[in-house]
Amino acid sequence: MTMLQRLSTSDPDFADRLAALLAWESVSDDRVQQIVAEILRAVRTQGDAALLEYTTRFDRWTPTTPADLELPRARLEQAWHTIPAAQRQALDAAAERIRTYAEHQKLSGWSYRDADGTLLGQQVTPLDRAGLYVPGGKAAYPSSVLMNAIPAKVAGVGELIMVVPTPDGELNELVLAAAHVAGVDRAFAIGGAQAVAALAYGTATIPGVDKIVGPGNIYVATAKRAVFGQVGIDMVAGPSEILVICDGATDPDWIAMDLFSQAEHDEDAQSILVSWDAAFLDQVAASIERLLPTLERAPIIEAALRARGALIFARDLDDAIAVANQIAPEHLELSVADPEAIVGRIRHAGAIFMGRYTAEALGDYCAGPNHVLPTSRTARFSSPLGVYDFQKRSSLILASAAGSARLAQTASVLARGEGLTAHARSAEYRGECAP
Ligand code: NAD
Repeated sequence: MTMLQRLSTSDPDFADRLAALLAWESVSDDRVQQIVAEILRAVRTQGDAALLEYTTRFDRWTPTTPADLELPRARLEQAWHTIPAAQRQALDAAAERIRTYAEHQKLSGWSYRDADGTLLGQQVTPLDRAGLYVPGGKAAYPSSVLMNAIPAKVAGVGELIMVVPTPDGELNELVLAAAHVAGVDRAFAIGGAQAVAALAYGTATIPGVDKIVGPGNIYVATAKRAVFGQVGIDMVAGPSEILVICDGATDPDWIAMDLFSQAEHDEDAQSILVSWDAAFLDQVAASIERLLPTLERAPIIEAALRARGALIFARDLDDAIAVANQIAPEHLELSVADPEAIVGRIRHAGAIFMGRYTAEALGDYCAGPNHVLPTSRTARFSSPLGVYDFQKRSSLILASAAGSARLAQTASVLARGEGLTAHARSAEYRGECAP
């Protein structure tokens, strides 16, 4: 009686069915790769001229000169003043909480001294310049502006450059206002693979950056992958995912809506509920059938739930936790009586929403932690976007004369063992003149 698949961890084919459910083929379309390669080449060789041409072709407006591509800071500020006061307050409140959380993530340098006076340590420095891609083709995402820009500013990035496509020349005031409140330094009305190319290589108008962050469609994701190495990138994100573990005592309507909240992102999104209360799984299924028609994006949600959604019956809480660790979800809700008692047993999840009152949607906008999270099981080895993504580390070594002599003995043996005589003698010179 439900549009979601029903699985039980006791089914003999459970492992295979779960693997099939989680399977996801990321960006690998030959035709798109060819188009993107051509765009990257054109921007690299022709610079601004290629940007103007692609903007006309893909965004359907014609800048007269490259200078028309820039959205001056005064324009961002103007947007801030034109949006309704309620939106201004909401952006302000969200920005404040995201900033406060980010401040806690800031890495600092450290050092220590050996007994012979040699200093060893690590120095932390922000990136000189970062580029932020804000998607704008089909929808606008002001929350993405805050989530990507604020950690960069907290890290102390020298200059933060935002790019956002303006389809048919239409600017989204809320996105520009978010850029203002987040402290974006310069903004340009360009998008797609051509914007990624401009940020990676630089043009006469667009400054080249050291790292590009932010989500986008298949053209943007393919371009980011292609320029990686020339510049850093944050990640190539897959479709949104939510996994809810529930003990059966939360209102089933709440859980149904939480599952919808990720499914409404797109048809490939994934929403899964795990419970050891079979009657509760039926109640949530009934809530889904009843509430779905009330939602604006019902067709997208239904497509996502049918393709990649599931209700999983587990034997008990331990079994449910094992399933969660197997799935390594982007978002995990622990909708149980005592989430703090079990959170330490969750080993892989992008963000963990604890307790019945913590709707995942709060984290998408304003709780404080970043909403840019590892998807497609990459939470096994990666982390949410944070201040640390805009900081880098340099190792520090300051050898005292005595320390140098002592280290030279070890270095010289190893270097000669490798046949690298210059290394050995370089180390030995210092050792010879030590006091
Ligand atoms: P977009 O800005 O990513 O892409 C628009 C650009 O795509 C256009 O400017 C154009 O240059 C390029 N383009 C379109 N058709 C093209 C073609 N045929 N050839 C070459 N280039 C072409 O905006 P969008 O399309 O609305 O996509 C936004 C994406 O971002 C969605 O997939 C959405 O799911 C994703 N998103 C993800 C997150 C996240 O946190 N994971 C957040 C927000 C948005």
